[in-house]
Amino acid sequence: MKVKVICEYCGKSILRWEYELTRTKNCFCSPEHAYAWRIGRHTQPCSEETKTKISKSNTGKIQTQETRNKISKKTKGKNNPFYGCKHTEKSRRLISEKNTGKKATIQTRQKMRETKLRFNNSFRGRLRSLIIKLI
Ligand SMILES: [Zn+2]
Repeated sequence: MKVKVICEYCGKSILRWEYELTRTKNCFCSPEHAYAWRIGRHTQPCSEETKTKISKSNTGKIQTQETRNKISKKTKGKNNPFYGCKHTEKSRRLISEKNTGKKATIQTRQKMRETKLRFNNSFRGRLRSLIIKLI
């Protein structure tokens, strides 16, 4: 059954499947609004000076495993504000356009390579077990 809910960000009424509501606390008319809401709620505008200061003191700082686990837990699965959402074609294009031509540092590129490798390995592993099951 579809129920009428109100977008947390703009107040527009939208129709959502009832089962969708059981896994999300807040409803949004679009992924963009979910994102805007999240950004608006957790970050306060601060001056350029403050930003530079924060950025300087955080650069190169490695968070403890405990902190990282906490953050990870908080933003994983259905805790992620974007959980169950998908970017629209339009926003996908915008993201892609924004990132085109952006040069990643050597460290970032190395990290991306490692992640890709890890993903490939786990994918291959899953594929193998699937094939074994099929045989
Ligand atoms: Zn909205």
